[in-house]
This record gives sequence, structure tokens and C-alpha cells, in this order.
Amino acid sequence: MKYLIYGIIAALFMMICVFTLQIGGKGVAAVLLPPSSAAAAVTSSDKIAYLTFDDGPSQSTSRILDILQKDGIKATFFVTGKTSDYSKQMLHRIVDEGHTLGNHTYSHDYKRIYASVGAFKADVDRLNRFLEETVGVRPNILRYPGGSNNHLSWRSGGRHIMSAITREMSSLGYQYFDWNVSSTDAAAVTQSKEAIVESVKSNSSGKKQIIVLMHDMDVKTTTVEALPEIISYLQHSGYHFDVLGKDSYTFQFLRPGKS
Ligand SMILES: [Zn+2]
Repeated sequence: MKYLIYGIIAALFMMICVFTLQIGGKGVAAVLLPPSSAAAAVTSSDKIAYLTFDDGPSQSTSRILDILQKDGIKATFFVTGKTSDYSKQMLHRIVDEGHTLGNHTYSHDYKRIYASVGAFKADVDRLNRFLEETVGVRPNILRYPGGSNNHLSWRSGGRHIMSAITREMSSLGYQYFDWNVSSTDAAAVTQSKEAIVESVKSNSSGKKQIIVLMHDMDVKTTTVEALPEIISYLQHSGYHFDVLGKDSYTFQFLRPGKS
């Protein structure tokens, strides 16, 4: 009787051991079996920063490019129609050093470009022809001067001009990019470097993909000064850097054709 009780206890103990091993085995298998979903989880948590520079080329361009080159970072330049030899040299550097060119209209003249859909298209075409002749690149990405929801355009083309233009440009195959992180370097002629850095820090907080608006202009010397700090902050916050392209992440104030 005594041995029978010992036997039952021993059998129960073995059953518990086997059961525990199976659970453990299943647990391990669940972790090890789908490596693809584990990889996908890592990819989807990636943080990407798209640095963008508007209105160049300018006297700041070569300094911006030097900083980007030193840190091995690629950015997107939304340029306008500048035809000096220096500007052409800068366009070559932008392309040769692996950055992306975007169209920011030839004239950047709100009154002219936002007068009608046709006027806008002509200005974009003019810049694309110039860029193609100069550096052999014809951008299919755009940034609207003032952003896609700007109201200054209303004075020239009326209340619905931006929805008409965005609809037309999207149907022609252009993708456009506003921004979800402003550096606020346009808030003053020459904004303080500290304000620029702080704005990027606070506006990027909690965002996985960020399109950072900065300006490449002669007077924006503090943007250039802030750039190394911005890059280092974003790197330490886990972002890697990429260029914008037709199929990349976008952020739009106004959806194409909506007013
Ligand atoms: Zn601009």
C-alpha cells in the first residue's frame, strides 16, 4: 500500500514534469518559429527622419552639404530656379553626393504660380526643364511654396486654387510633401539657433516618421549652425535618415483635390 502511494506520487510528479516541458517547448517554439514576424516587428518600429531644405541653392548650400557629407546623411532639397554658375555647381553636388532634388517651382512667386492651375504647371515644368538640362534629373516630387494648405494662394487664384492644383499635379504623377516637424527657421529672418534645435526636439517627440522643414537660404545661417546638433539629437533618439521619393512616407496638410 505504502509503495503504491509512492508509485502514484512518482507518476504524478513525472506527468507534471512532462507537461511543464511541453509548455516550455511550446513557448520556445513560439519565439523561434516565425523569424519573419520578428524581423517585421523590428522594421516597423524603425524611426526615419527626412531632412528637407527649401528654397536653395544659396550661399548656405555648400556648408549644408559639407555637414551632411561628414555625417554620411542623405537629405532632400526642394529647389527653385537659380541659374548662376555657383547654383549649378551646387545642384551638381546635391545630385553627385546622393541627395534628392525636389521641385519647389521655378519662380516661387505666389502671385504668379497660384494664379491658375495652368500657371502652376508651367512654372513646375520650367524648373524641371532647367534641372534636366543642368543635372539630368527631372523630379516627380514637389513641395508647394507655403505648403499645400496655404491661404496666400487665395488672393491670386481664389479659395479653391490649392485643391484644383493638387488634384491636377497628383493626376500628372507628382507626389507632394508638406512637413510634420518645423524647425521654425522661417519664423524670423534669422531665427536663433537654440530655437531651431528646440523646435525640432519638441516637434519630433513621439513621432516615428518625421519630415523636417528647414531652409537653404543666404540669411538662414543659424539653420546651418543648428544642423549638426539636430542630426546628433535625432541619431541619439534612434532615427535613421532617408530621402523622400514618390513612394516614401508622406505628410500632407491638404489631401489631393480636397479643399
Ligand atoms: Zn519656399
